[in-house]
Amino acid sequence: MRKLLLTLVFALGTQILLFAQINDNSFIKYLDQSFSVYDKLQKAIWKHSELGFLETESSTLLQNHLKENGFSIESNLAGMPTAFVATYGSGGPAIGILAEFDALPGLSQDTISSRQHIDHKDGGHACGHNLFGTGSVAGAVAIKKWLSENKHGGTIKVFGTPAEEGGGGKVYMVRDGVFKDVDIVLDWHPSSSNAVNVGAGTAIQMIDYTFHGKASHAAGSPDKGRSALDGVEALNYMVNLSREHIPSSSRIHYVITKGGEAPNVVPEIASVSYYIRSPKREVLNDLVEWVDQASEGAAKGTQTKVTREIISGFYERLFNKKLSELVQKNLEIVGGVHYDERERKFAEEIVKDLGFETSKLDEAKTVKPLAIENPDQGGGSSDVGDVSWNVPTVSFGTASFIPGSAGHSWQNVASGGTTIGTKALINSAKVIALTAIDLYKNSEIVKDAKEEFEGRRGKDFSYESLIGDRAPALDYRVKK
Ligand SMILES: [Zn+2]
Repeated sequence: MRKLLLTLVFALGTQILLFAQINDNSFIKYLDQSFSVYDKLQKAIWKHSELGFLETESSTLLQNHLKENGFSIESNLAGMPTAFVATYGSGGPAIGILAEFDALPGLSQDTISSRQHIDHKDGGHACGHNLFGTGSVAGAVAIKKWLSENKHGGTIKVFGTPAEEGGGGKVYMVRDGVFKDVDIVLDWHPSSSNAVNVGAGTAIQMIDYTFHGKASHAAGSPDKGRSALDGVEALNYMVNLSREHIPSSSRIHYVITKGGEAPNVVPEIASVSYYIRSPKREVLNDLVEWVDQASEGAAKGTQTKVTREIISGFYERLFNKKLSELVQKNLEIVGGVHYDERERKFAEEIVKDLGFETSKLDEAKTVKPLAIENPDQGGGSSDVGDVSWNVPTVSFGTASFIPGSAGHSWQNVASGGTTIGTKALINSAKVIALTAIDLYKNSEIVKDAKEEFEGRRGKDFSYESLIGDRAPALDYRVKK
């Protein structure tokens, strides 16, 4: 018992000491003192809430801040006007940081604890990419301060990656070799907890199927028409029957994006947008082939024609143990998100409305243990997957959202637009900075992470994106 107590006291003492030492660092002080700067920046991006590939203001805000802090900028990359890379320093290792900034359609919401649209506004930052971009930029500026103050060799690169929500900006950047000169990539994402993300998520293929029929009067001359909507419905019916026979970890979902104009006109054109997902790329390929075959069967049976367009496709994430352990150490040093009285009141209202006890909020201030043996099996997908198969990558989250809230929810838009979001992004910036500095100081970790990466992806691996040779779907969020 005494020994246990002594160990505990020692562990706690080390933690407090580490925390005190960390707070003495000028780059950590810089982040603490710049709270209002980054609060303003994230809220400006939150207000713009620009959708995928349309993030001109948000991308410019981030680029300007980096430029003002001594980074050189290349923008308009891989056919995407809002993509950029900001670079500082020279020599190795080169550490990359991902920065997203796109919002989601239909999720406008005020920063209050009940559902409230903002007038004349469609998009909302329900995935917290306003925080993602700002936190990464803040981390990069802190690293730059450390590199210049210590006259240390090493390069830092911020990758401004557009349209994560379905547009897959990173996939085009990977395909064009934009990541080829970096040794390690650090990735974070707003979350409702503080944890290193060790799950693979799912690989995804996004395909639009368009059916072409013959228009005619639905009552006067139905025999002369062939309904494109019948084609869509037949496809959906067959896919729904297939669900019983596909691996249970797979996901297939669709929305009908065009179904005809009026019931008295047999629809000439109808289309459906599909997301097909699986934790394994090989299984995903089989499922895509199945849905393709069903679309051809549906066209045949309804005497229509079908065309398909791949909108985007992402790899599942490739895990790296060495980097995950390093980030876990730094996340534990930085700790969780602590609410002040006003934030606590807002969080309590949301958590109660969601049907949880207020004790659920404790998750925001604690750091979850590293779950390598039992990774989160969440079915989401991200274009970070493609990056992670090309450069050793590590992902983590900080509690930007109220514990218990769902992904892509109005609660996340609300929380991410407050100082709770800013506190979480500052924590992430600290973790990013501490991790990059560990990597600059200790090239052994970089070497080990790279060796592990090569082993995991296998020596025969060669990257082939799931988007073929298509150009970025720059208008995928433009209302047609
Ligand atoms: Zn996201």
